[in-house]
Order: sequence, then C-alpha cells, then structure tokens
Amino acid sequence: MTGATATSLSSIFALSAEAEREALVVSVHDVAPATRAAAEKIVAELAHQRVSVCSLLVVPNYHHRGSSTEDRGFVRWLQELETQGHEIVIHGYFHERPRRDGESVREKFFTRLYTNDEGEFYDLDYDEALRRITRAREEFAAASLTPRGFIAPAWLLGPAAERAAADAEMEYTTRLTGLRDLRSGDDFRARTLVYSVRSGWRRAASLAWNGLLARQLATAQLARVSIHPTDLGHHEIWQQILRLTGRLAENRNATTYRDWVAEKRTRRRA
Ligand SMILES: [Zn+2]
Repeated sequence: MTGATATSLSSIFALSAEAEREALVVSVHDVAPATRAAAEKIVAELAHQRVSVCSLLVVPNYHHRGSSTEDRGFVRWLQELETQGHEIVIHGYFHERPRRDGESVREKFFTRLYTNDEGEFYDLDYDEALRRITRAREEFAAASLTPRGFIAPAWLLGPAAERAAADAEMEYTTRLTGLRDLRSGDDFRARTLVYSVRSGWRRAASLAWNGLLARQLATAQLARVSIHPTDLGHHEIWQQILRLTGRLAENRNATTYRDWVAEKRTRRRA
C-alpha cells in the first residue's frame, strides 16, 4: 500500500467514525438582550470544550421587558451565530406565567416550586398559544432569523399548546426527558442535564444529580446539556457544566436540535 493510499484510507475511516459518533446538543436557555452578555460568555467557553455549535433558546419579549427583535445589535449577533451554524429556537413569548386564583396543588407544584412562575405555556389555551408562537415566528422571520423549533419555558408544554406549536409549523419540541418531532410525531427519549441554582439545597442536589446523570448518558444516542445564564454566577455549578460537557464532547459530535432532527429524518427515508 502506498503512503498516499494509506493516508486517504485512514482519513476515510476517520470520517466514517466521525459520522457514527453519537450526538451532543448543548442548549442555552433564556437568551434575550438582558442576558446577552452571559449568553455570549457561555457560547465562547463552550467553544473551548469542543462545542462549536449550540441551540440558543431566544425569548421574543423576556418578562415584558421589550421586543428582542427590535434590538438591532442583539439581532445582528443572532444572525452571525446562525451563519456560524448555531441554531435559534423560539422559547416561549414572555417566558413568565401570571399566577391565578384557586390553583390546584399540582398546578402550584409545577408552576411555582418546580419553576419560578416561568411556565408560560403550561396551560395556555390553543388560540392564545397559536397567537404567541405565530407572532414570535413572524418577528424572527422579519429579523431574517429562521427558527425551526419551539421549546416551552421550563419545558412545560400543555397538550393544546403543543398542537398549536405543530400548527404554527414548528418542526420539533423538547421536554426534560426527550425530543418530539412535531411533523412525524416520533418521540426520542433523551434526558437532559439541567441545574437549579435558586437556593443552596437546589444547587447541592443539582451537582449530585447531574454527576450521576452524565455517567448514565454514556450510551445514549443523544446527550443533552441545558444551560441557563444564571448558572454562570455559581462557580461550582459552572465548573461542573464545563467539565461534564467537555467529557461528553470528547466522543460525541456537538450539533443542534435542528440538525439532529433533520438527520434522523434523512436516515429514516434512506
Ligand atoms: Zn427558559
């Protein structure tokens, strides 16, 4: 075998090994003008861990603080990220859910204890969900951004709101435990690492739980890491996120939900 042949064979093997590697999707949540500085730092530090693309969950009007797409500098930054292969995902509309009178224990658990009143799409009716998602899509399109996915704040997406997301031509959604292709209805189980940093006990529990979960993900077809801008403010949490993400990226391809779903569909057709 000549040297040249050996070289080209080994590069073919390297390419096919690359193609067969399992995937890693890192998502950055709650991206908005108010959290841009933190999100930029997260994206930059992920790049040092071999995660060169991620899914950015952008809130159209975070906590009613104003339209994200009217901030031209913010939009330019998102456009550049899209050009580099990152993905822009619609993440709720306002992100928060106003409390209501007479809520059940279950409603209180999910909307207050599990998440800090951030379950905007937990129990929105179909019409209002469709209005908000369609409006978000139109605002993003007007800003030359091309979101394909819709992910509800705190992954709390009620059945009516999920139908609305599909009818608004969103291609997929994710939950804490997996991803759903909204076109085919296919479900893919894939738990995500995610941290709760609101109090000391939550941080301690998060560190222990995510350490365990990262080990369990060794054989998963899709490993997911979900990062919030507030994670950056807690040294121990942030260091663990970088360490676990870096380890997962050693033998997985970092991709986006958009590209992962597209590849699944291509393989199914093949
Ligand atoms: Zn969120």
